[in-house]
This record gives sequence, C-alpha cells and structure tokens, in this order.
Amino acid sequence: MQINKHFLELKDSYLFSTIAKKAAAHVEAHPDAKVLRLGIGDVTRPLVPVVVDAMTAAVAEMGQAATFRGYGPEQGYPFLREALQKYYEGKGVKLAADEIFMGDGAKSDIGNILDLFDKNNNVIIPDPVYPAYLDANIMAGRNVYFVDGNEENGFLPMPESLVQQGINPDLIYICSPNNPTGSVYTRSQLKVWVDYATYCGAIILFDAAYECFITDPDLPTSIFEIPGARRCAIEIASLSKVAGFTGVRCGYTIVPHELEFDGGNINKMWNRRQTTKFNGVSYIVQRGAEAVFTKEGMAQCMESVGAYLANAKIIAQTMKELNIWHVGGDNAPYIWLKCPNNMTSWDFFDFLLAKAHVVGTPGAGFGAKGEGYFRLSAFNSKENVEEAMHRIKGIL
Ligand code: PLP
Repeated sequence: MQINKHFLELKDSYLFSTIAKKAAAHVEAHPDAKVLRLGIGDVTRPLVPVVVDAMTAAVAEMGQAATFRGYGPEQGYPFLREALQKYYEGKGVKLAADEIFMGDGAKSDIGNILDLFDKNNNVIIPDPVYPAYLDANIMAGRNVYFVDGNEENGFLPMPESLVQQGINPDLIYICSPNNPTGSVYTRSQLKVWVDYATYCGAIILFDAAYECFITDPDLPTSIFEIPGARRCAIEIASLSKVAGFTGVRCGYTIVPHELEFDGGNINKMWNRRQTTKFNGVSYIVQRGAEAVFTKEGMAQCMESVGAYLANAKIIAQTMKELNIWHVGGDNAPYIWLKCPNNMTSWDFFDFLLAKAHVVGTPGAGFGAKGEGYFRLSAFNSKENVEEAMHRIKGIL
C-alpha cells in the first residue's frame, strides 16, 4: 500500500488556528478587554427572511408523503439552474441551464474540478490568494507557478512575467474580487487573461465567490462578460457571501459547452464526474438558494452585502486618514494594507492585538508575497468596526 506522497509536501496550515490560539490567550490575559475580530472571512449576519421561509416550507414538504423528495438531479434542480440562468442574464451573460452545476460550495469544486485535468499540467496561481488553490494542486502533484501581486500592480498580477519566463500554462486560477486583497480586475485586464489563456490553450478557473460585492458597474462580475471566455474559462461561485450560506452550503460551477480540449468536452466530463462522485445539494438548501435569486430575496441579501460594504468603507477611510497604503474595500469585503513601520505581518498582528485588542489576518498566511501586509475584514457589525477603527487610530 502506498499513500499519495504529495500530501507530505503540504505545509501545515497554522494560520487560522494560530490566530485563534493567540486571540484566546489574549482574552485570558485581559478578561475585561473587548476583543474585536476583523480577522475572519466568515459572514456574521443571519439568513434573510425570504430564505428562511423557503427552507421552512421545503422542510414541511419533505415531511409529507405527497411532497417528499429523495435523490434529486446531481446537477441541481431545474428550478434553481433556471433561477441562475436569469441571474446571469441580468449580467448580460447567456448560459444554457446544463452549463450550470449546483454544488455544496466553491471550496469543494475548486478542488474537485482538478479531477478533469492531467497531473502534469502547469498551474498558475496568484500570490497572495485564497490558499485552497495551492494545496489542492500540491495534493495532486502538479507544477505550480506563481504570478506575483505587489503594490506596483495593485495586487492584480497580469501574465507578463509568465510570458517572460516562457512558462506554458495549462490551468490559471483567477480570484476577483480577490481574497485577501479585495482587488478587482477590470474588464480590459480580464480580456488580457482571456486572450493569453486562449493563445496558450489553457483553461482559466475563475473564482467569483465575492462577485456580489462589486457595485461599480464598469467592473465585471463574471468572466463570461469577457468576449472569448466561453472557449477558455470555468467559473466557480458561491452563495456563501451573497446570502450568508457559509453554514448552509451551496455554490455553483459554470462549464460552457465550447470547452473542448485534448479530445474531451469539459462540460460532459464534469457532468460525468459529478454524476459519479456527487449526489446533489439537499432539496431544502436548493429551495433556499432559489429564494435568494427572487427579486425580494436579492433585495434582502443585498441589504446585508451593503452593510458589509459600508463597514469596508469605514476601514478604508481610516487607512486613508492614517496614510497607510491599502487596496480593496470598494468592491470587496476585505481591505489589504501595508503593515506600518515595515513590521512583518505577524508582528503587526501581535501589535494590533496587544495595543488595540483587535484581531486581523497576517498577509503571510496567503502566500509569500503577502508578507508585510495585513487583511482586515468587513464581516462584523458597524459598531464593532467603528470601535476597532477608533482604537487603531489611537495607536498609529
Ligand atoms: N473562494 C474564495 C476566494 C474564498 O475566500 C472562499 C471562502 O472564504 C471560498 C472560495 C469558499 O467558499 P464556499 O463557502 O462556497 O466553499
């Protein structure tokens, strides 16, 4: 018996456990201090009423013989795929219902989609970014190359460095709005990536988990708003942030029919993969998800998104007042800032916790290029965000 030795190459992910441990130790040492947590990427507001009602009604249906449902379609119920079709129509994107595959969240599909691709593929990953891309590819033993975010490119890396190094990409991860930086690619920047992927014969894996935070109408919320993307891109999205589904679990992956590579149709392959390894999202959750995409549901959800964005504005404004270099916060729930006085990201974490009782996330946890930077999250109440900013102003 041999194990998959690539698992031994993974670095232990200490980021959030170390943050939790340090925060807990701080609370114990300062029992009277109110510790404010701006470190988490999890939502804090509850499910909206329309969703709760829809899921409650679905539970009742499941309790009656006449309306009980067992296994559903692996790809998702038609009512939900059609609701998503309409949602994308609103973005000016036409999708066939069988290009939309419901899943239990973006994280699963980010890893699962790799089943379709050869182990020898070259994978391009932005640095810094959501760590699951890297770990999922290390597990499969793929070659990973990074495209670096930095202050010069506003943490929106472009393909030039890959061209200069002569790297031949097969899979390209793009996360926009980005976690952790909150940066969002423009239409013309995404067009460059689409043209580059097309030229190289590569597939873009576009993570749109935070698309709902884009309020600027000039910024694209889907890769499929970019001409040519249907021939080179897969989009992975989620209800976690738009509807507070982090604990409910529902996402979707869009695989256009046009994706033909190496003798295989990617849509058909993903369908085959899902029907073999996945038995669908629960009916109750799908009814809740359907409610999100009604007019009333979307209005209620966007009220929560708007509250997070208002918090993000407060954080960004504070950074501006303190003359701290930062990006994000306009069309994203994250503000990415340069640690003052050239502190490392963990030094700044300790400083903020000790002096202001505020918890953030050290940038080093999102990749080598995150060192020296820090993520503050808008997922909290307005009162807590205001209080945290007041305290930060007091120490910087
Ligand atoms: N993609 C990004 C960029 C994320 O930040 C997250 C979660 O924070 C996910 C995907 C995972 O989302 P889900 O809850 O749908 O699995």
